[in-house]
Amino acid sequence: MCAVFGIYGNKQLNTAMITAQGLSALQHRGQESTGITTTDGEHIYTHKDLGLVSHVYNETSTSKLKGHISIGHNRYGTSSKRNSSHHIQPVIADDRLFSMAHNGNLPDTAPLEIFLDTHDIYNPGFNDSEMMYQAVAYFVRQGASLKQAVIEASPLFTGIYCLLFMDKKHLIALRDPYGVRPLSIGRLNDSYIIASETCAIDTVKGEFLRDVNPGEIIIIENNKLESIQLKEPQPHLDIFEFVYFARPDSMLMGQNVYSVRKRFGAQLAAEYPLDVDMVIPVPDSGIPSAIGYAQALRLPYEEGLTKNRYVGRTFILPNQEEREKSVARKLNPISDLIKNKKVALVDDSVVRGTTSRNLVKRVFAAGAKEVHLLITSPRVMFPDFYGIDTPSQAQLIAARKTLSEIQEFIGATSLYFLSYAGMIKATTLSEKMFTTAAFTGNYPADIGRRKREIIYEKNNVARYIKFQQIWDEDFSEDLVSHLYKPVFLEQ
Ligand code: AMP
Repeated sequence: MCAVFGIYGNKQLNTAMITAQGLSALQHRGQESTGITTTDGEHIYTHKDLGLVSHVYNETSTSKLKGHISIGHNRYGTSSKRNSSHHIQPVIADDRLFSMAHNGNLPDTAPLEIFLDTHDIYNPGFNDSEMMYQAVAYFVRQGASLKQAVIEASPLFTGIYCLLFMDKKHLIALRDPYGVRPLSIGRLNDSYIIASETCAIDTVKGEFLRDVNPGEIIIIENNKLESIQLKEPQPHLDIFEFVYFARPDSMLMGQNVYSVRKRFGAQLAAEYPLDVDMVIPVPDSGIPSAIGYAQALRLPYEEGLTKNRYVGRTFILPNQEEREKSVARKLNPISDLIKNKKVALVDDSVVRGTTSRNLVKRVFAAGAKEVHLLITSPRVMFPDFYGIDTPSQAQLIAARKTLSEIQEFIGATSLYFLSYAGMIKATTLSEKMFTTAAFTGNYPADIGRRKREIIYEKNNVARYIKFQQIWDEDFSEDLVSHLYKPVFLEQ
């Protein structure tokens, strides 16, 4: 995931403060670290740190961030890189010629590695974003303008990116030709804003203009916007943005996220109507869908799970035990409401199955008579290589277990996943517009050498079961990848 926000403003605007507000509206896309760089045309200033936007920026830190151009980034870390201050963005080199912020992921960095190696810049410690930065920096140091340098380096970017660049004169945005992650343009009086989601443009009281086209580069100088369509657009927004990631008040490809989620719920009602006493969302992403489901079937909607909004992510915690404990800290069922009732729980997705299993257990423990689990997406069978931190395929419960085995593991009275066709229909957009890799294994942008990490055959349960036992005992990622890899390579 991750979030980017940039503004080309005027001398009167406190662009650092506006960027911090924009990043705050995009906090859901990344909570590990955050950073801002600004320029007054003379110098480039930076402030970045681990932690949430509200902790990292205050009046003192933003007052040092002078200038009319600013870019910012929220980082979404993975377990292995957790709490590493090493890779906090925006990326900026010691010569401070320009800075860069990236949302996305390059599954295969071979072309960049070869390029950097050929020019003696390669360093094994670089991540994909830092490699992109170094490639652009190479051309800048050769005397190219930032715009020329980004254009020159862009064929090396094989993967998914929404990039913001900034030097002392320009703000530049570049979106990959597949448009897997969202990126929108807004206007704030005579200033331009570029943000990962439209909710950030709304928050700073800007006006949404349009999305950055897939394959388009936008160059802003002296408040004038230039656009070049660098590569043929092949739009494939990640449908998971609708399912889980984006904020409900954002617009994606002209569709409001809240409304689409509500239609997921209505579609679930058409496919799997239940006669229950109440419909309960798993907050937050389950809320609009639960409302849609309840309204369609004229069932009572109740917020029967209280969410502690001050507890951080549970998804990326490194081991099973930690994850189980934090689900309990995060969500607490209201026993008084649930006792002796038949309830339908609505959640957005099942990835490892840990969250659902714990929730169902807790709702039963609170006295529910029946707990039906309704999921507003199909089964996640394939890992993501495009900037979401889903685990390896071995950890995806739906890749290892049949539907009835999943139900048994989760312990629900019944379990239903929204159909693939139903999910697409609810977006009102065509299937061709989306990346649906998590459900279909269809990766529109080449994933290069990472292909070896995927098993496609259906019904290959025997192989999965071989690892299941070990898996259920120990969720250590290292152990699983160690045991699992040889099987992939056999293919
Ligand atoms: P689990 O099945 O326990 O691995 O977790 C699934 C839950 O995590 C779902 O209810 C989602 O709300 C949430 N989720 C799904 N994908 C992600 C992700 N990439 N990052 C953070 N949370 C996620």
